[in-house]
Amino acid sequence: MKILFAASECAPFIKTGGLGDVVGTLPAALAAQGAGVAVVLPKYRGIPREWKRAMHPRLSFYVNLGWRKQYCGVETLERGGVTYFFLDNEHYFGGESVYGKGEFEGERFAFFCRAVLESLPHIGFAPDVLHCNDWQTGLIPLLLNTQYSNLPGYERVKTVFTVHNLAYQGVFEWAGVRDLLGVDEACFTPDAIEFFGKASFMKAGLKFADLVTTVSPTYAKEIAGDEFGENLGAFIRYQVREVAGILNGIDNSDYDPKTDGGIEANFCAEDFSGKQACKRALQEEMGLNPDETVPLIGMVTRLTEQKGLDLVECVFEDIFFRDVQMALLGSGERKYVDLFNWGAFRYPGRCGVYIGMNEGLSRRIFAGADMLLMPSKFEPCGLTQMIAMRYGTLPIVRETGGLADTVAPYNEYEDTGYGFSFTNFNAHDMLFTVDRALGFYGDRATWARLQRRAMAMDFGWGSSAREYMGAYEKVLSRAQTTAEERYAGSAEEEQR
Ligand code: ADP
Repeated sequence: MKILFAASECAPFIKTGGLGDVVGTLPAALAAQGAGVAVVLPKYRGIPREWKRAMHPRLSFYVNLGWRKQYCGVETLERGGVTYFFLDNEHYFGGESVYGKGEFEGERFAFFCRAVLESLPHIGFAPDVLHCNDWQTGLIPLLLNTQYSNLPGYERVKTVFTVHNLAYQGVFEWAGVRDLLGVDEACFTPDAIEFFGKASFMKAGLKFADLVTTVSPTYAKEIAGDEFGENLGAFIRYQVREVAGILNGIDNSDYDPKTDGGIEANFCAEDFSGKQACKRALQEEMGLNPDETVPLIGMVTRLTEQKGLDLVECVFEDIFFRDVQMALLGSGERKYVDLFNWGAFRYPGRCGVYIGMNEGLSRRIFAGADMLLMPSKFEPCGLTQMIAMRYGTLPIVRETGGLADTVAPYNEYEDTGYGFSFTNFNAHDMLFTVDRALGFYGDRATWARLQRRAMAMDFGWGSSAREYMGAYEKVLSRAQTTAEERYAGSAEEEQR
């Protein structure tokens, strides 16, 4: 079985969040299960020079985009049993940042989707399944179904579309999408890609893929509802045959406190002395008072509303009435940057803040903190809590999406679970849960037991990779459906 991943980011080449981690680790896990796997992604300017040097130029061709022809170079490299294809075009991917704003963003990824499909006959890798990820690749299933499905080499290719975050949908002017890609007017309806008068790349993926998946079982249910459906709940309920929820995994060998060379001292569940050393080093690095006994709450997060930072803001001072320290690493919206910078000023020695992306520091926080606070409003899967648990750092989370699927709350009566969680999106419920965690932190024997339990959990890719293999097999065994049949299907659905 041959799987080609198409994505807008992939660690270690380029990453802005969990999508990069997943595309960086899942393909190797699938390769380990016997699949032939390749990944295609844009060749961004921001890819570190050492990786660019390792790439081999393979070929180039021109992509028809409206009235223009755009150059597309293909460069490759091999890593861990996976082939990576980088699509090169300075105009689209030569900018400072990975993502941008405005209609040009739509054009960039329209180009990418078209270029991925156009590259197939040239790259020497004929996929059985094209696995697309998030809105940036959403037009691939649409184009494949409506423009390529009768062409030699494309007839049998199936598509899987994974939603990593439904909140980002890629909505652009229809006129632009139509002109760039020649998308059929029939697609611009509410039961296909029309979305409040514009064209939604996310809807294109959801509607036209052979299988839709998302990154946790709970999020799969949530997105079909109105609260977390981001205005697509009803569309998902009525237009998407099935949303499979397959939990993300992390790379257990990379995130291993026993061997991680990036932390102050290594440690394991039998001996936490190394973790104490990590805590001391973290306190020093982040300007916190050197005190091993005070509970240290870590946060590693994008600074966006999604991550529940409004709850933290609401009870910020209450948190610091308690005897705690906080270490925050994050980047994002100004108002949250201001909040935490103000916190560092207001509570010197107790609130350490680093604004920006810093992979090394993120590991030192996972290893050195006692708890990880992640009160997300919604969370498709969340990797941060899983990584923290690997390092014996207990999560305090809101019960949503993947957080609900991965953090079993501690039940002191039955002595089960290894984390702390609350249900309602309410700042005082969060504060109460922080207090619960602080209470148990004082009981060293209980705390160590929970740490050991969390560290014993297997959040690796093994079982999820097997689930993906099962999903691919299911898709491949399905009879080919044409775009017309799909329309007929959705019309029947509507009549019902
Ligand atoms: P999301 O994808 O919504 O940002 P996840 O928890 O799924 O959230 O994944 C976030 C990933 O990005 C984790 O690997 C986390 O360690 C990393 N990360 C988030 N913020 C930063 C930062 N400021 N510096 C370094 N890594 C970060």
